[in-house]
Amino acid sequence: MTTTTQEWHCLPPEEVCKQLACEASTGLTEQEVQERQAAYGKNIIAPGKRKSALIRLLLQFHNPLIYILLFSASVALLMGSVVDSSIIYGVVLINAIIGFIQEDKAEKAISSLSGSLVTNATVIRNGETLVVDARELVPGDLVLLASGAKVPADMRLIKSRDLQTVEGVLTGESAPVEKQADQIKEKQTGLADRTNMVYASTLVTYGQATGIVVATGDQTEVGKISQMLNQAESLETPLTIKFQEFSKAITYVIIGFAVLAIAIGYFREGTLSQQSLLQSIALAVGAIPEGLPAAITITLAIGVSRMALRRVIIRKLPAVETLGSTTVICSDKTGTLTKNQMTVKHIYTGGVMYDVDGTGYAPQGDFKRGNETVTPNDIVPLNECLVAGLLCNDSQLVNADGVYDIQGDPTEGALIVSAHKAGMTYAKQAAVMPRLDAIPFESQHQYMASLHQSEKERIIYIKGSIEALLQRSNHMLTSTGEEVAIDKQAIIDAAASLSRKGIRVLTIARKKMDSDTSRLDHHHLETGLCIIGLQGMIDPPRPEVIESVAYCKGAGIDVKMITGDHVLTAVAIGQQIGLLDATLPEGVMTHLSGKELEEMDDATLMQNLPTLKVFARVTPEQKLRLVKLLQSQRHIVAMTGDGVNDSPALKQANIGVAMGITGTDVSKEAADIVLTDDNFASIYAAVEEGRAVYDNLIKIIMWTLPTNIGIGLIILAAVFMNIELPILPSQILWINMTMAGVLGLTLAFEPRLAGIMNRPPRDSESPILSGTIIWRTAFVGTLMTLAAFVLYQYLIHTAGETIEVARTVVVNTIVAIGVFYLFSCRSMGSAFKHLSMKTNRMLLPGIVIMIGLQLFITYTPFMNHIFHTSGVSFQWNIITLGTAFVSFLTIEFYKIFEKK
Ligand code: ADP
Ligand code: MG
Repeated sequence: MTTTTQEWHCLPPEEVCKQLACEASTGLTEQEVQERQAAYGKNIIAPGKRKSALIRLLLQFHNPLIYILLFSASVALLMGSVVDSSIIYGVVLINAIIGFIQEDKAEKAISSLSGSLVTNATVIRNGETLVVDARELVPGDLVLLASGAKVPADMRLIKSRDLQTVEGVLTGESAPVEKQADQIKEKQTGLADRTNMVYASTLVTYGQATGIVVATGDQTEVGKISQMLNQAESLETPLTIKFQEFSKAITYVIIGFAVLAIAIGYFREGTLSQQSLLQSIALAVGAIPEGLPAAITITLAIGVSRMALRRVIIRKLPAVETLGSTTVICSDKTGTLTKNQMTVKHIYTGGVMYDVDGTGYAPQGDFKRGNETVTPNDIVPLNECLVAGLLCNDSQLVNADGVYDIQGDPTEGALIVSAHKAGMTYAKQAAVMPRLDAIPFESQHQYMASLHQSEKERIIYIKGSIEALLQRSNHMLTSTGEEVAIDKQAIIDAAASLSRKGIRVLTIARKKMDSDTSRLDHHHLETGLCIIGLQGMIDPPRPEVIESVAYCKGAGIDVKMITGDHVLTAVAIGQQIGLLDATLPEGVMTHLSGKELEEMDDATLMQNLPTLKVFARVTPEQKLRLVKLLQSQRHIVAMTGDGVNDSPALKQANIGVAMGITGTDVSKEAADIVLTDDNFASIYAAVEEGRAVYDNLIKIIMWTLPTNIGIGLIILAAVFMNIELPILPSQILWINMTMAGVLGLTLAFEPRLAGIMNRPPRDSESPILSGTIIWRTAFVGTLMTLAAFVLYQYLIHTAGETIEVARTVVVNTIVAIGVFYLFSCRSMGSAFKHLSMKTNRMLLPGIVIMIGLQLFITYTPFMNHIFHTSGVSFQWNIITLGTAFVSFLTIEFYKIFEKK
């Protein structure tokens, strides 16, 4: 047996099976699977080569701010201050290493999360159909493919029904290609021409097929090229890009000031003085917020893991940020707003409405006509309705330890349960009427059909939406089971009476065929159907959704339901979850059907969009149109989708949301985030976390910048006053590095503030720093300058301390103000409401370490020597703390004043 053959496409299926030692109808046995797993390993593609560690480390230096630092260090070296230049070099290096480690961690955290999305594969093993983790596949496995799936391994098709795949990952071609199972003569064909082969990682966009796995893991075509694909997650987001631009801008400002300092020195002394060069260097290192970029990345990564805890997996990092500015959530109904636990409660057939007892999937419950219990098997149309629902079905009822559950589609599950309540099972029914062929459900057709052989004749059972089926029907069953001419209105009325209560209605029909029909096609279903009846199922709203919808209102987020279900059902559920107000004035447009949507022009639609909450029987193209119109009104749109055709809308939306449980692989691939529980409440949670992440980013920036401004101003003051620097470049670097890493980063761990969802969404187009923040930053920066400068002058001139002592006190004062200011930055409002250190477990350790570091640099001879610091007497420490505390109070006063 070999799997290295390149020409599987040239072999007939029997030969493929022979070479792979497998059985084309029953698949491999469990033992064979285990042996092959041992021989071939897991079906996992080894991650592609990332940029080498050295390159990634070097990239840390690729930043205009760092260029300035390196330049400064070289100037210092030329001037002969070896210690100062080594400190700058050292700091730049440490900064790069820290940035490298942190980004690496963030990258790994993010990619391991997106890797946690498991792809499943449907296989036939031992003659049984099973759903397995795609990583368990082995060569020779028999795999069933259906529309929406990601192809789990390279396969040779042996059966195909209209299969189409998108092979963009391999060929770059985004249009779907048609596949078939026939043998291909030519040996030398490119991958794109091997139409009887499908390849791992490509996507099935249409049809179904059965194939034999010929290669797994690294042996697959995509596995072979994965070494070339750069699989590292991009850590760029709109914010980090904005920040890079911001960095560039301040670089110019800093260069400007540095040149100014040198120029001033030159005019004063008539020559390029050592002093003015030192000043420029100090200015450059002081004003640059070295620690910020890494802090931003870490904050985003923390956001990603917090969201994962709330069942939201981030596939694209920018989503973390965008989520916080979401203004509209467009959500599916079935399964997202509702529980997706369908139970058939009513069956309408032969002009009679029957009720069905029982709850959930447990197959116990009576059939009733009014108050009278009936035996369904005795009532011909009722019996036929149940049989059709059971046979035209691709799902299974399973019983694990007495608990019944559905494998597959809950809508179909409900039909199985109602049939079981009448004593039927699929096995028994299928024995009498074996299935010859089937067309699976696809939401664009809104029906499923299956062809069966009964004793006398061949028969098609079909189930789907009332719109799809009624237009194809001309007969219906009477209460005694005869086919008579259809009374469409009666059926429409019966369906409407159920839909109005929020009940999901499936219409069930049949068509008798000639006995030579063995393949089912859509054209068989165009006309001549006979309606058997309706099965109406309840799907209760998720209780937590009602709450989330209400919270969204409070948060200024508009929620819209976009569903494939019937408009009356959708409206009823909309009312139950509080989406639709029952008391809206006449003439306000609150809901639309897909048909009405189609006929409405953009202008009218746009005008009514704010009040429109429910869109029913919507097609994927209409979803796309809605997203675009909402975006043209400057909305930030989160849109859910589960089907293959939802991809364009998911991609167009600012946040494409896929369903982890019921969603197709194709939709997950197109989405920005995936809900692991399919729950609307999780979208709400993600938005909440998104707002918290953004808040924390702002807090970190707001906390960091004043120190840079303050130091910059101190140096400028020294330049203009022509005095010795109150703080040396090496000391400035010490401050910047330790404070950002030890104190600033603690803000990334701040919990979300209460009331975070009581304010309107952030305007996504507003600049990072609002006027308030800019003014506050300037205020705090100036305050720092004043405090440090006054203290310095006092120590030198009045108290007669040495310059080393004075500088040490300046350093300590700046750090102390930073510690207190941390509390001011925990919220935009008063710091006194957010003093508790319990809500942020990083805060206390951060402060303790920072104090330790200051004692270290102040009181150890070694550090005194390197940093030109000096031990200071106790009273100066008290004054330092007092100054910091007064500054803190001043800032808090400023906040009160700021509001007015
Ligand atoms: P949604 O998930 O938003 O309710 P779908 O596109 O899944 O919308 O379903 C649209 C309509 O298609 C349903 O209202 C129902 O009438 C019909 N339908 C849904 N699931 C099935 C199925 N498995 N088989 C046949 N018809 C179905
Ligand atoms: Mg659905």
